[in-house]
Amino acid sequence: MTGRFAAGSGLMSVDEALARLSVRLGPATGTESVGLARALSCILAEDVVSPINVPPHDNSAMDGWAFRRADLPADRRLPVVGRVAAGHPLSGGLPPGGAVRIFTGAPMPAGADAVAMQEDCKEDGECVILPPHLADGDNIRRAGEDVAEGTVVLPAGIRLRPQDLGIAAATGRTALLVRRPLRAAVFSTGDEICEPGAPLPSGCIYDTNRFTAGALLRGLGAEVTDLGILPDRLEVIRAALAEAAAGHDLILTSGGVSVGDEDHVKPAVLALGSLDFWRLAIKPGRPVALGEVQGVPFIGLPGNPVAVMVTFMLIARPMVLRLMGAGDAGLIRFPVEAGFAFRHKPGRREFLRARLVRDGDRLLAAKFSSEGSGVLTSMVWSQGLVDIPETRGDVAPGEMVEFVSYAELMR
Ligand code: AMP
Ligand code: MG
Repeated sequence: MTGRFAAGSGLMSVDEALARLSVRLGPATGTESVGLARALSCILAEDVVSPINVPPHDNSAMDGWAFRRADLPADRRLPVVGRVAAGHPLSGGLPPGGAVRIFTGAPMPAGADAVAMQEDCKEDGECVILPPHLADGDNIRRAGEDVAEGTVVLPAGIRLRPQDLGIAAATGRTALLVRRPLRAAVFSTGDEICEPGAPLPSGCIYDTNRFTAGALLRGLGAEVTDLGILPDRLEVIRAALAEAAAGHDLILTSGGVSVGDEDHVKPAVLALGSLDFWRLAIKPGRPVALGEVQGVPFIGLPGNPVAVMVTFMLIARPMVLRLMGAGDAGLIRFPVEAGFAFRHKPGRREFLRARLVRDGDRLLAAKFSSEGSGVLTSMVWSQGLVDIPETRGDVAPGEMVEFVSYAELMR
């Protein structure tokens, strides 16, 4: 049975895959109000509108003296008639013909139109000698200059960073409406896959995918349930999927979705929901299986450890972000020089594991020696992916290529 991710039979580009995902998925989690101290990295679920001006009042940007420029006599000497410190407004405003000692952040006395900075002034008994050439508003921070009352300071869908919490506090907020964490269940499949820690039976390998995929999900803010390693047995996989569907917003597996006789994830998912295969025109990466298990979104990643990480970053990540209610901020791609030669047959989009290297004022991408989709050390060595478009031919050293950092691809 085909489902909501049904696709044509041809190869699908990454861009087409992303466009399809964006129309088919929305937030899968509810919202909750959390205090600012707990909101870091949460996905904001409301537009935050400021009910006040920030700063709320005109105030001094310097320690110095506030005065009215029209009052300045030829000798630029004014009597100091008051003092205004931060948090202590001057009642009554600036008396005519006087200057007021003022400190950074102190509200401007009504009537003053400039502040002279301390370093430019000279104190002379009860008077101050002010500098020439100050313009209207010099060294004054205007009310609302940072945020005007009624402005949206933070849009729904962003992942909250320290500065976002700061601006929310500046508008008087103590708590924010955020998305509840996405609950994701993760398991690996394969009779040859073993849990690290125990001696390795002959013919077996240790599980890596549960650790990379689980950590990638956690890095995006999901709450991950580790469901362990499932054997290549249809009934066991089917029962585990059904149980996972009951308490999760997403199920993610690796392995068992190609077309071999031992690939039992496909029939297990089909027995409980629907499954579609997206044959992506990418390397590394095989078909990615997308579907649902009793209504819960399902992502079946390939088994090869590098393919797991790359298809997660390119396809599962945007999908997970949509389920989390996060807006797509897009990926920053750096144009860099290829520090390598690479033969590329147009047709499939290829992602090379790469590192950035400085050479004087040039920035070069170095490529890992092997393209194998099972060579996990390539991921450990690299800092990001060089994206070779479908249409591109061979790459010669010194040609420009695009680099996307893991910092972008994992958040
Ligand atoms: P599969 O798609 O199940 O045929 O797996 C493809 C390849 O990835 C095989 O060589 C598997 O042994 C390997 N593989 C599958 N799952 C894992 C895993 N969890 N950890 C490490 N390698 C895996
Ligand atoms: Mg397998």
